[in-house]
Amino acid sequence: MTAMVTLPDIEEARRRIAGHVVSTPLLRSQALSRQSGAPIFLKLENHQKTGSFKLRGATNAILCLSEDARSRGLATASTGNHGRAVAHAARTLGARATICLSGLVPANKVEAIRSLGAEIRIVGRSQDDAMREVERLVSEEGMSFVPPFDDAGVIAGQGTIGLEIADSMPDVTLVLVPLSGGGLASGVAAAIKGRRLQARVIGISMERGAAMAASIAAGAPLDVQEVETLADSLGGGIGLDNRLTFAMCRDLLDNVILLSESEIAEGIRHAALVEGEIVEGAGAVGIAALLAGKIRPDGPTAIVVSGGNIDPALHSQIVNDIKSGVA
Ligand SMILES: *Cc1c(COP(=O)(O)O)cnc(C)c1O
Repeated sequence: MTAMVTLPDIEEARRRIAGHVVSTPLLRSQALSRQSGAPIFLKLENHQKTGSFKLRGATNAILCLSEDARSRGLATASTGNHGRAVAHAARTLGARATICLSGLVPANKVEAIRSLGAEIRIVGRSQDDAMREVERLVSEEGMSFVPPFDDAGVIAGQGTIGLEIADSMPDVTLVLVPLSGGGLASGVAAAIKGRRLQARVIGISMERGAAMAASIAAGAPLDVQEVETLADSLGGGIGLDNRLTFAMCRDLLDNVILLSESEIAEGIRHAALVEGEIVEGAGAVGIAALLAGKIRPDGPTAIVVSGGNIDPALHSQIVNDIKSGVA
């Protein structure tokens, strides 16, 4: 049996992060319910503080550190939703966060993280260079690394979404979860299965560079080439030295579905025009999988809408169906 995060860990995380994160709305979609013939509910983490669920895991991981470790500061190397989450959580918990970024990160992304109160360190020309600086801060300055997904505290924090779904929908039969490094999917699946709900939990990634799907198929963590995708928050590998999320996703997910770029665009468009929600590509994949007919709900279904941080110009381009290089 491999190491796993289990229901008691997730229940403890829920108590720990209560008051620091929003219990997001779980709203019925009339349009998707009518279309699919089953009750479909959207778990709207685009309404979470910082615009994505990542705040749950980051907050729990930071609260799991000792006072002493917290006072020496936190470090990570993400330009995206994880970076925002660590910056915000650190500030509200009274800790210092240093976010290491490569010199290639665009100025607007750097400013977005700086404005959340984090210290920014620009190093090198790649994500690997930024990560090496994080390792230096950990070894030489005693800071704590807050990992984006492969960490028991992070997984338990993301799993609190599964508890909120289970409490509101004890009759749920299908849960759709965006899947990248697998912290979100591992946590949600552990909560749903831990509560002994008879529900399938299905992970959804993009066809372009789905590292977890390829790793599960191969039976071991694999590197895949990272390519541009509308679901940019789902990019990146799972780590060849993956400790937790590979085994948890392999053992707990009932299936993994892959989507094309045009299917993801359709999900973003539906969220905006029909549901009235601004959702980023990664957050729209559950909706997109239903719309594409790649999953058939057999009863009450919960779709995790994981985030809403999308460049406004790109969003309006997609909603207005203007063809770009990506779509
Ligand atoms: C990080 C992220 C994901 C994927 O989460 P993992 O834990 O890496 O699988 C999905 N959606 C959004 C919006 C994210 O920021």
